[in-house]
Amino acid sequence: MATNGKIADFEHTALDAIPGIASTARGTFRTHKTKNLEWRKAQLRKLYWAVEDYTPQLVAALKDDLGKSDFEATLTEIDWMKKDCMFMLDHLDKFAKDDKLGAPAVPLTYSFMSWRVRKEPLGTVLIIGPYNFPIQLLLAPLVGAIAAGCTAVLKPSELTPKCAMVMKTFLAERLDNSAFAVVNGAIPETNALMNEKWDKIFFTGSAPVGTIIAKKAAETLTPVVLELGGKNPAFITKNANLALAAKRLLWGKTVNAGQVCLSQNYILIHKDLVDTFITHLNAAYKEMFPKGAQASPDLGRIVNKRHFLRLKKMLDDTQGKIVMGGSLDETENFIEPTAVLVNSVNDSMMQEESFGPIFCIYPVNTLDEAVSTANLVHRTPLSLFSFGSKAENEKVLNEMTSGGATLNDAFFHASVNTIPFGGVGDSGWGAYRGKASFDAFTHFRTVSETPSWSEKLIAVRYMPFDYKKLKL
Ligand code: NAD
Repeated sequence: MATNGKIADFEHTALDAIPGIASTARGTFRTHKTKNLEWRKAQLRKLYWAVEDYTPQLVAALKDDLGKSDFEATLTEIDWMKKDCMFMLDHLDKFAKDDKLGAPAVPLTYSFMSWRVRKEPLGTVLIIGPYNFPIQLLLAPLVGAIAAGCTAVLKPSELTPKCAMVMKTFLAERLDNSAFAVVNGAIPETNALMNEKWDKIFFTGSAPVGTIIAKKAAETLTPVVLELGGKNPAFITKNANLALAAKRLLWGKTVNAGQVCLSQNYILIHKDLVDTFITHLNAAYKEMFPKGAQASPDLGRIVNKRHFLRLKKMLDDTQGKIVMGGSLDETENFIEPTAVLVNSVNDSMMQEESFGPIFCIYPVNTLDEAVSTANLVHRTPLSLFSFGSKAENEKVLNEMTSGGATLNDAFFHASVNTIPFGGVGDSGWGAYRGKASFDAFTHFRTVSETPSWSEKLIAVRYMPFDYKKLKL
């Protein structure tokens, strides 16, 4: 059924309505209706069909908000979400089933008792989303929350207002309104939400805002999942296929106009390879954008003027040399995919998270130097990419940590919706996607049962203590 649901203009949720919205979601959780697996499945089916039916509105909103092409909108947001719902529907019975415990977890001494782990919903959760994949990064955690049996309030990014309104419209129209709600707004609305008590907060966004959220959550001992950004390195050694590395890394910086938390910020490459690599980069660029990037219908735009100017400043401040791209057009927040050759780790291009289609190339003498440089720039990035021999790639994995890693490609490790994804250290806490989404919103509650007939077997625990009883 294709609805032609009308989408209202973006409107901030009234601040004084927020406590009531949170309280409704909490009250619904206490009715226990969300614990019913059939109810959860019905909500997941409704979410699937909402995304399907509202596809034209979502595609249009993504075009308006981010200049996303239909192709990218479909692949990275709409189909992604439908696949997420389907995966969860296919596996929910199995995920939600009690785990019966036996050996080796249960020692022989206690095997006369029954042991299991119940999968219980955490309760009422808050999901806060960023702007770059405004549909996927808000609704994918929701799939986990629904599957686990939680109620939820969602706060989309105000920087993508059209997408926020489409989601608010279809969630209100299709899902159980007593269990799920959208609050629209920016900092004041998020602060009002943070004044409520949640059973978990799932935040995707920048590290500085993640810090604010985690501090506030700590006041009420509220657990948080943080999906943050990072300055992600790529390593290229003499054993890499340079043409392939150039093409794949350029892809990593053109998807969503480089507004991807996972894409490389900088490339550490052996100094002897720099010229050839730049030639390959420019060849790959020509292949992807035969008429130039600005004329391409496939390349998105920077979300707003503020972020455009932030990226422009990074380019203005660099002491490096532009070796690919470099043009900007403020009238349409366009930034050409741009590579800058730099010679200092203190360069603006190395020090700041780019989160746009610009990245830098930093020549090194050895792989050891590359790894120590990357560890200096950011010890726990969200991702890293290594293009080298098997041994070199293992060395990079061994000597530097990251949330996830892809060998011989840009961020493919995070391009499959069913595989766990998350950061480490200051690029994030916790993971989701696939079963990990269910787990993120679940309390694993251990339950044991002691048969009445077993009293003699465990009498040793009672006072008065007697070592002789231990020999039973
Ligand atoms: P952001 O941190 O500015 O905003 C995220 C959310 O927090 C928005 O909903 C926003 O309204 C809210 N917010 C902003 N400032 C706030 C404040 N002071 N107090 C309370 N709430 C506030 O992030 P963004 O600009 O939307 O997204 C870009 C950042 O997110 C980048 O750093 C990127 O790396 C990161 N990111 C991470 C992932 C991931 O999965 N790890 C995915 C996408 C983006």
